Amino acid sequence: MATLGNPQHTIAILQKYNFRFQKKYGQNFLIDTRVLDRIMQAAGITQEDFVLEIGPGIGTMTQYLCENARSVAAVEIDPSLIPILEDTLRDYRNVEIICQDILKMDLGLLVQEKNQGKPIKVVANLPYYITTPIIMGLFESHMPIESITIMVQKEVAERMQAVPGTKDYGALSLAVQYYSFPEIIANVPPHSFIPQPKVGSAVIRLAKRQEPPLPVEDEKLLFAIIRASFQQRRKTLANGLQNAPNLPIDKALAIKVLESLGLNPSIRGEALSLDAFIQLSNAFCDTLSQNNHQ
Ligand code: SAM
Repeated sequence: MATLGNPQHTIAILQKYNFRFQKKYGQNFLIDTRVLDRIMQAAGITQEDFVLEIGPGIGTMTQYLCENARSVAAVEIDPSLIPILEDTLRDYRNVEIICQDILKMDLGLLVQEKNQGKPIKVVANLPYYITTPIIMGLFESHMPIESITIMVQKEVAERMQAVPGTKDYGALSLAVQYYSFPEIIANVPPHSFIPQPKVGSAVIRLAKRQEPPLPVEDEKLLFAIIRASFQQRRKTLANGLQNAPNLPIDKALAIKVLESLGLNPSIRGEALSLDAFIQLSNAFCDTLSQNNHQ
């Protein structure tokens, strides 16, 4: 089977099957072997690995994964791509093609069945319309993952890796950095895809953390505080928290807790590190439980 990273081979397959791109599925297929090599290198796939690929398309990256991994599960939502994948991957015995919506799958069960519950690697050129739900779904499911190496919109990759005090820093940066160590591997121009996306792309590797950076008393409260802090970016943290309908925090309590941590009461969320958010949420957790017991 000819490798698909070559644009002529990709075009030939698309013509053979008279494939119609579906915009609603975010279909932009990779046609750049250097980018594919770079993704494989970053993902560090070995013959020991079970790899989950999200959205294999016509199987371009899947071929690379099959060459390098022990076993690959490729989950594709578009039924019209399944006969194509059966053709382009026919030489490989170590791949399972699953026609499903990744957001509706029980991935914990898949990992249990295919990898005896041991950590897996996820590799994907993601459909950009659902990048955040896919990544947060993978992390929040708490299924065993070693790393996630993905192509995303460049601007989203920058937000994931952003540090406090920068314009890109926000709830996504904190959520991703809570679960992983992000590292942008490469920027990828639109002409590396067919059809060309309207935006620049980037490959980012998220190496899963074994533990949160600090112990967290209440994860739900932590993320509610983070979301509330960035909902109204221009507001101070104390105002953002008192305006959040799902948080039992008024302005006086917010100021008291901020001061108890030695923080300026007029600080904004964008100035706080992940560690500081965790300390803040733990302090709120203690204060709220003390208030409940009084
Ligand atoms: N991996 C291929 C490549 O690099 O050429 C295709 C990448 S393309 C950006 C995204 C792929 O994800 C498409 O094949 C699309 O049909 C598929 N997809 C979109 N939404 C999906 C979902 N909810 N579950 C599984 N696959 C999905």
